[in-house]
Amino acid sequence: MKLVQCWVEHPSRSLDQVFTYTYDGEIEPGVRVSVPFGTREIIGFVEHVEETDETQVQAEERLGMKLKPVNYVLDAAPLITPELHEMAMWMRKTTLSTAISCFQCMLPGKVKPSSSAAPAAKEKWVRITGEEGSLTVKQLQAYSFIREKGDVLYSEVRKQYAGVIGKLLEKGMVEIYEKEKEADLRFSDITDGEKQLTEDQQKAVDEISGSGDRVFLLKGVTGSGKTEVYLHLAAMALRQGKQVLILVPEISLTPQMIERVSSRFRTGLAIYHSGLSSQEKYEQYRLVLSGKARIVVGTRSSVFLPFTDLGLVVMDEEHDSSYKQENQPAYHCRDAALWRCEYHNCKLVLGSATPSLESYARTIRKVYHLVELPHRINRTLPQITVVNMKQAMEEGQSGILSDALCTRLSQTLKNGRQAILLLNRRGYHSLIKCRSCQSVIKCPHCDISMSWHREDRMLKCHTCGTMMPLPKACPDCHSTAGFSAYGFGTEKLEHELSAQFPDARIMRMDADTTSRKNSHEKILGAFGRKEADILVGTQMIAKGLDYPNVSLVGIINGDEGLNRTDFRSCEVSFDLLMQASGRSGRSDIPGEVVLQVTDPSHYAVQCACAQDYDGFFAREMYFRHAGMYPPYTYLIALTVSAATQEASDRAAMRIRDHLQGSYRTIGILSLLKINDRCRSRILLKGRDLDEMRNDVRKFLDSEEGKSIRDLRIDVNPMVLD
Ligand code: ADP
Ligand code: ZN
Ligand code: ZN
Repeated sequence: MKLVQCWVEHPSRSLDQVFTYTYDGEIEPGVRVSVPFGTREIIGFVEHVEETDETQVQAEERLGMKLKPVNYVLDAAPLITPELHEMAMWMRKTTLSTAISCFQCMLPGKVKPSSSAAPAAKEKWVRITGEEGSLTVKQLQAYSFIREKGDVLYSEVRKQYAGVIGKLLEKGMVEIYEKEKEADLRFSDITDGEKQLTEDQQKAVDEISGSGDRVFLLKGVTGSGKTEVYLHLAAMALRQGKQVLILVPEISLTPQMIERVSSRFRTGLAIYHSGLSSQEKYEQYRLVLSGKARIVVGTRSSVFLPFTDLGLVVMDEEHDSSYKQENQPAYHCRDAALWRCEYHNCKLVLGSATPSLESYARTIRKVYHLVELPHRINRTLPQITVVNMKQAMEEGQSGILSDALCTRLSQTLKNGRQAILLLNRRGYHSLIKCRSCQSVIKCPHCDISMSWHREDRMLKCHTCGTMMPLPKACPDCHSTAGFSAYGFGTEKLEHELSAQFPDARIMRMDADTTSRKNSHEKILGAFGRKEADILVGTQMIAKGLDYPNVSLVGIINGDEGLNRTDFRSCEVSFDLLMQASGRSGRSDIPGEVVLQVTDPSHYAVQCACAQDYDGFFAREMYFRHAGMYPPYTYLIALTVSAATQEASDRAAMRIRDHLQGSYRTIGILSLLKINDRCRSRILLKGRDLDEMRNDVRKFLDSEEGKSIRDLRIDVNPMVLD
């Protein structure tokens, strides 16, 4: 008899432990099983298998519990490698999450330890099983065709030999069998030779490849040729027969990186991002597992792909907040990437024009090795003009498009160049107020005002997605006096642009226009082919894009993000301004940027204008030090949610009473209601992260801790709102 220990698929933290079952057949760690649990059947993930000579009764006596048998085993082979298993355990410990949630987030949907996932798609194949017998000419042709190919898709045989394949099957000379569908490796038609590196780039490549350090921060202004450095380092790793992972922050950036990677290397490339269907993800996963894919371009979760021989990991735009997963386990991709690089003994290259404060501070403490690309390839930075919108509006200019921006836009269009306009808010109007009582229309499920979307003629909640038509009467005072609209988003900006520039071809890219599959690629592809003159969009167009014909970038409401209370809001706004400006003038055409703000004197705006990262870093670190925020301290956010504020506050209080150490315990803070859930937060702030983690873990494992429901834990949170 075998004793099988497994983690069970249940979201409750109180069940985050292995449960023991018995089994007689073949079974190994890493496979999924169906097990009885209470009155239900549940999926489990096998952690450990132990052969025993004991009888069931003896084992039960020794363990002090009744043992039930495993119902059945789901997988023929383990789903994850021993490395990934170790990684899941590390993640459970560092992010204070459940083991099963770590396994779930590491595996593609098809193989998740989940009962609901549809099985992987299969394809029919044909192969030879017997000697050729007496055959007609046509049959012989079909037979030879299959024999020559060895293995061939049934659909392909049927297309060419529809009339005869049945006979071959009948005679037992060939057979049909099923195999899991396999993705084709991507190869580009265009090949792009290695570029002659500039002196700066060569120095960077030499410094990284010649050093024995583990982590490098490649800091270089936008357009300084960081990608070219990544590609050179990747080529070196590939030549040694190793695998390479290139991480990009957003799915909108993958097409461009894929293009650059695939046109450079004639080698197996896999692609992994959230826009893929679960079947597609599974196919890419298998390409990596089989070793056919040598290089992977992907977003956050590709850090969990089953590489067997990694030689380099690159993390482009390392400061980007999308590298942090918000759901449980709230891991940061940078930490996961570093873990893997240590396991494979390879280098991690973090690249950015605006490194996160944490990473840059680590270069000062010599934890990371700093490598800089100080100049743009074309040696010119864009010319930045700041427009004070308060003043402009007092002068009677439009609050959306200032005169300065309009003048430059018409010039750009006249010159046959393209422009990018960034406005980090979607929809038409951002606020709708009752004319009679002045109350704002809020989402029925969240404490958040609803935006008006003109195309859909709907009010939308950007947090939970609720949509509703504009009510006939005010939900508060029931007046039918009507509503006034305030604020504007990308939809209105697009509208305003087409009114001002009726001949311009305008495209919009935001969450509303990119909900369909492949829509990112389509919009960016069309803009790249110059099928539009102006690209309007939210932050998804600010990053990484490299279009030589773009000579103007306009940033609307550039300092809006500074109003947020989050301790990172200045850093996030500064990054966005720097990144967006970096889209302009990347080739030999000089670039311009118009930055519309309400407070031009803010240091984040001033430093972005001067493209001065070091100046910003010094100012921001001063404030972080004064408030004792990261990178001077570590934070752990514990957020409970419940149906009422009172209940969530009460639960938070129970947690707070158990956490005392050398760190500060801040809160209880009542947060905005989201999705009908009231939320309360406690923030731990201290210098000893291990102590804080251990205390939280101890609490979670206590009886009191197990009784707390709906608790979200975020170690090193990125956002606190
Ligand atoms: P970054 O990633 O730092 O923003 P890129 O690698 O995208 O910069 O480079 C900016 C532009 O300069 C790209 O269009 C790229 O093709 C070009 N470029 C980069 N390195 C070289 C080089 N050594 N020689 C010629 N052009 C280069
Ligand atoms: Zn009203
Ligand atoms: Zn809502």
